[in-house]
This record gives sequence, structure tokens and C-alpha cells, in this order.
Amino acid sequence: VRADVVVVGAGNAALCAALAARERGADVLVLERAPEEECGGNTAFTGGGFRAVYQGVEDIRSLATELSDDQVAHSDFGKYTEADFFADMARVTESRTDPELCEILVTRSFDTLRWMQSKGVNFVPKYRRATTEVDGIFKFTGGLVLEAFGGGTGLIDSLTKAARDAGVAILYGARATGLVMDGARVSGVSYRQAGADTKVNAAAVILACGGFEANAEWRTRYLGPGWELATVRGSRFNTGDGIAMALAAGAMSYGNWSGAHADPYGLNAPPFGQRDVGGAYQKHSFPFGIMVNSSGERFMDEGEDFVAYTYAKTGRRILAQPEHFAYQIFDQKVAPLLQDSYRSRYAAKISADSLEGLARRLEGVDEPGFLRTVAEYNSAVCTEIPFDPATKDGRCTTGLAVNKSNWANVLDTPPFEAFGVGCGITFTFGGLKISSESRVIDTEGAPIEGLFACGELVGGIFYFNYPGGTGLMNGAVFGRIAGDTAGRAAVQQKASTR
Ligand SMILES: Cc1cc2nc3c(=O)[nH]c(=O)nc-3n(C[C@H](O)[C@H](O)[C@H](O)COP(=O)(O)OP(=O)(O)OC[C@H]3O[C@@H](n4cnc5c(N)ncnc54)[C@H](O)[C@@H]3O)c2cc1C
Repeated sequence: VRADVVVVGAGNAALCAALAARERGADVLVLERAPEEECGGNTAFTGGGFRAVYQGVEDIRSLATELSDDQVAHSDFGKYTEADFFADMARVTESRTDPELCEILVTRSFDTLRWMQSKGVNFVPKYRRATTEVDGIFKFTGGLVLEAFGGGTGLIDSLTKAARDAGVAILYGARATGLVMDGARVSGVSYRQAGADTKVNAAAVILACGGFEANAEWRTRYLGPGWELATVRGSRFNTGDGIAMALAAGAMSYGNWSGAHADPYGLNAPPFGQRDVGGAYQKHSFPFGIMVNSSGERFMDEGEDFVAYTYAKTGRRILAQPEHFAYQIFDQKVAPLLQDSYRSRYAAKISADSLEGLARRLEGVDEPGFLRTVAEYNSAVCTEIPFDPATKDGRCTTGLAVNKSNWANVLDTPPFEAFGVGCGITFTFGGLKISSESRVIDTEGAPIEGLFACGELVGGIFYFNYPGGTGLMNGAVFGRIAGDTAGRAAVQQKASTR
């Protein structure tokens, strides 16, 4: 078997790579480990949100073509400049993001969405999750404005259709097991399908098969003790295979190997993501309440920033608590502001008409400790500062060991509500080093001939934390670049050997 370009994985990064390679005229084969009914990788579990630079409402309209005049009149999109995106990446990664890769991500973001649109991906504003309604106007906060129509599954459906229409062949249930080497260059991939081992020769191989978040042993080895206890929010198939095969071929390891995107996730969630349940277990409204651990104590500033900039580091904070869980506590003043997932039938809500009653129902939590924490917190809220969920309102607490910086409200309006959360891991940050052309770099700092990578398995872009909506954007930008470079190289090679 032979193809010009073999892409490993069939998520967002992989399918963008396959489409771009096909644009260059290459014959493309995609190998996907999951069976077709579980295809789409982590991408299929997403809400489909993309963080991209835009200059104002006209840029949004050019991508979200179904947006009506009435919707525009009732929306405040603001703008999100290159400088904003750079600043967000620098802030959340504590200035560790690879400057070259980050610049490519930021400066190619909008153009890449237009390119995806040209392939049949439709976008809509993210009204459900990214807005706060103030006086009938939906205000977008946190730089994350657009999502793919149909969310993650819609995105996968559109990209898969586009790939098939373009003539890309996709094999499901085909797990890549190793790179075939011809001296120092990569000349193909071996894979296992239906129990049989096969190999496919190719001028270029693009690894786009995710991080190692679904591999409990690697999580414990690289993220640290306790991480085997995290719940996997997405695909069960991302076990680090692509990283392992590239390292075996001499690739350099790069980035934040002890870091991961992990957020507050329902204690009652199953061990891996379930596509039919969607985002029902995620619990991202903690900025409007407080979080307590088993001692009944608060342990972090729940209102440090808009949730798009804090949720991805909060899972780690929860995992670090005694017994690895926390409760999020709200009262009725903020209950209408909570995301839909808090009202889902998968939300294990505990409610009570008094704080004492709630304390008795919080399984595993020290009752006196909890009541003391709430009393101290309530008396520390600066009530003279107005509450405004649409801005960083500065309504804080003062004098506590752990203060809250924004959106602090006295917990005084029953019924009180509590939601148990653990750590849900989304994806890992460490991986392979790539060049600006998405070529995999070896331990000597030189590109490995014939090998490319994109998506979650690339290291160096995210450290410690992550601005929401950047994973898909990153996969699309570098997927497109990987496919373009690999496709061109493969076609040139074919022409020169004719
Ligand atoms: C619940 C959830 C919600 C999220 N929401 C968002 C969001 O709204 N916006 C955003 O930007 N990001 C979001 N993310 C993060 C986002 O999912 C990832 O950053 C992105 O989808 C990664 O894309 P990818 O193509 O690199 O990997 P994936 O989409 O995971 O694709 C990797 C593919 O490789 C396959 N594979 C693995 N091993 C092999 C092998 N050996 N051989 C062949 N195939 C293999 C897997 O089966 C999988 O299909 C979310 C993640 C989760 C879990």
C-alpha cells in the first residue's frame, strides 16, 4: 500500500492537514484508531469554540453568515486584536509559550477560519456559553466568540465530508503502531486493523493523533502522583501513541510535560467522555460562587478572571485538595447565571433552605469548617461595589487568607445549591517540537525528513493554563500548515522520481 501523505488521526488537526495536503494534489490516506461510530477524537467532544483574531462585527458576520440584523443589533461582539490574543497567551502561560509558534497561531487564526469556511465548516456566535445579557444586549467576554455549527460533532461531520469529497481515504479502526524508517527519514507507518498488522509507505507522515490524557500510566508518570485519579473528559483513544512513535524515531520532547488542561468536572461522571452527554458534567460557573474542599475551606480565588482564562487550570487545584474533590456553592441570586450544565439531568445538585441544612448534606465535608468558611466569606464581601457579571467588576472580599477578586456575593438567598466536582482532564500540554512548517524536530535540532505533527501532540504552545477555544484553533492552523508543507514535499518527490 502507498500514499503520498499519511495522516495519523481523524480529529480537527488531522482533517485540516488532510484537506491542505489534498489541495496540493497529494494522495492522502487517514488512519484513525477509533471505530467509525466513535470517530472524531477529542474534537467531537468539544463545544466547537474557536478563539481567533477579529476586528469587529463585520469579521464575525463574514464567518457567521446566518447572523441576522436583529441578532447583530442585540449583540456586543467588541473586537479581539492580535495584541489581545498575544497578551492572553503570554499571561496564561506565564510568558512560556514558544514565541514563533504563538505568533503563527495568532496571526493565522482568522485566515484559517476563512479557509475552513471555504471547506464547508459553518460558524455561529457562541451565544450559549460566552455571553452575559445586560439590558437586552448579549455581551461577549473573554475573546471566544465563534463556534462551529453543530459544535464538535458538527465540526467533525463537516471536515469528514469535505475530506471525503476531496478524495481523501479514511480507514477507521486502524491504529498506527510505529513509523517506518528508511535510514534517517520516515517512509511510512505501520498499523493494526482488525488484528492484522500492515504498513503503508508514504513520502510524508503527519502525526495528529492527540496527547496522552487517556493514558493513566503516562499521566501519573509525567503529570505526577494523583493524576491517575482524574476523569477523562474526552476520547479514550488519545494515549500518546504518536508522541511515543516520534520519540522512538529521534524526535525532541518539548513543552510543559507536567502540564495539562483540566477543569472542574462532575464527581458522578463516567471515566471517559460520552458523546451523547456532551458537556453536561463540566462545571464552569464557579466564578459566581465559592468552592470548598473536604475541610470546608476555600482554596482558590474563584473570581480571579473570566472563566475562559481560569477553568483550564482549576482541575489541578481540585485534584490537589485532600480526597481530590470540592463543592461549588451558589445561592439563588446567581442561580440564573449558571451554565446549562448545572440544570442538566446529569448534574448531581444538592440543595437546602439553610446553610446548616446544606452543610449536613455535603458528603465528606467538615460541617463546622464549612459554616465557618461561609460566615467569614460573607462578612468579607465588599458589598458597596456593584455586582456586574459582564465585566471584571472588582467586587471582592478583603481580609481573608484566600480572597476573591471579582463577582463576590454574600451567600444569603436560599435555596442554596451545591455541586460536587473532581478533576476532569481535557488534554496534555507536553509533546513534540515542531518548526514553523510543522516539521518534527529531532534531538539535534534538525527536522526529521518526512515527519510532520500538529494538534494536541505538539508541545511548547501551552504551559500551566490555556485560554478557552485555543485548542481547536491551534490544531486547525498547524494542521493546515502541516498538510500544506507535507503535500507540497510529497508531490515534488513524486515528480522527481518519475
Ligand atoms: C469536553 C471537551 C471540550 C472541549 N472544548 C473545546 C472547545 O470548545 N474549543 C477548543 O478549542 N478546544 C476544546 N477542547 C480541546 C480540543 O478538544 C482539543 O484541543 C482538540 O480537539 C484537539 O484536536 P486534535 O485533532 O489534536 O486531537 P483529537 O481531536 O483528539 O484527534 C486525535 C485522533 O487521533 C486518534 N488516534 C489516537 N491514537 C491513534 C493511533 N495510534 N492511530 C490512529 N489514530 C489515533 C484518536 O482516536 C483521535 O480521533 C475540548 C476538549 C474536550 C475533551
